[in-house]
Amino acid sequence: MLKPCPRCESERVVYCNYGKRIGGTVGTVAGAFSGASTTVTGAAAGARLGVVAGNKVAGLAGAGLGAVTGALAGCIAGLRLGKLVDEQLLCHFRCLDCRAHF
Ligand SMILES: [Zn+2]
Repeated sequence: MLKPCPRCESERVVYCNYGKRIGGTVGTVAGAFSGASTTVTGAAAGARLGVVAGNKVAGLAGAGLGAVTGALAGCIAGLRLGKLVDEQLLCHFRCLDCRAHF
């Protein structure tokens, strides 16, 4: 729920969630990176398994799963962290008339 600006009492106020936006982006990138390293591990494990079992699908499945899971987990973690930063550290609202953050 938006509240009026404490400085000029304007109702033209927007909610800004900088932390959440940045957190989500950073988290997704970080997750993709860690997912990529998981992919290497998954591919290596799959390849080893493929030699034993003669099944290359296992390697591909492991690699894809690692990348997707990593990016998703990173995004969620980043969003959570960003939300926390928003709530604890950053200003929630911005006035469109006097540009005050509060
Ligand atoms: Zn204002």
